[in-house]
Amino acid sequence: MLPLPIKASSGEPLSVLAIGAHPDDIEIGAGGLLLGLAESELRAHYVVLTGTAERQQEARNAAHSFMPGADLTIELFDLPEGRLPVAWGGVKEILEGVARSCSPDVIIAPSLDDAHQDHRTIGELVPTVFRDQLYLAYEIPKWDGDISRPSMYVPLSTSTAQRKVELLHKCFPSQRGRDWWDDEVFLGMARLRGMECRARYAEAFRCAKSVIVPAAFTPGPSREDI
Ligand SMILES: [Zn+2]
Repeated sequence: MLPLPIKASSGEPLSVLAIGAHPDDIEIGAGGLLLGLAESELRAHYVVLTGTAERQQEARNAAHSFMPGADLTIELFDLPEGRLPVAWGGVKEILEGVARSCSPDVIIAPSLDDAHQDHRTIGELVPTVFRDQLYLAYEIPKWDGDISRPSMYVPLSTSTAQRKVELLHKCFPSQRGRDWWDDEVFLGMARLRGMECRARYAEAFRCAKSVIVPAAFTPGPSREDI
């Protein structure tokens, strides 16, 4: 297994765009990855499409907690929760606005295959707006049973996996009463993904398309450059 390091090709700090339909999506799906990326210099754009004022405050706290020290831009919106498919144009406009204001190296967002209609709508639109980024689609355990086959794994140390769960509890008190919100779901999922990539814990992602560049290869001009 050959690990592929995530780093900006420009030599600048890595620039990450994290998108969630709801407060807590980004952290459940990729909180461990964000904790790891924030150990180096990181520029992060954090966007959540729905949320009450209370939940938006939770999202704000979580962004700072999961990415301490990052150069952070937070954009929170209040599109109708559960109804993003009918707000399709609004979601696309928001994503296009984000694309005008930042140029990320990596996008962390929901998957096209996600059973939740809000997650899926974002997963459908991300590749229509962003075409030159590594798009890692995270997974969120839920009662729909839509966990599917990932293509990328991010191994997590035991301390990072435990820190992720601690921060989930701390940052999202409004969700603690949900019957699925517990250590066993979060750590069990991470343990399963860890076993699959021969680590103790891991997060897993779908990546529909990635470009691998050999070290000696200099990409030629695209058609637009000619
Ligand atoms: Zn969600």
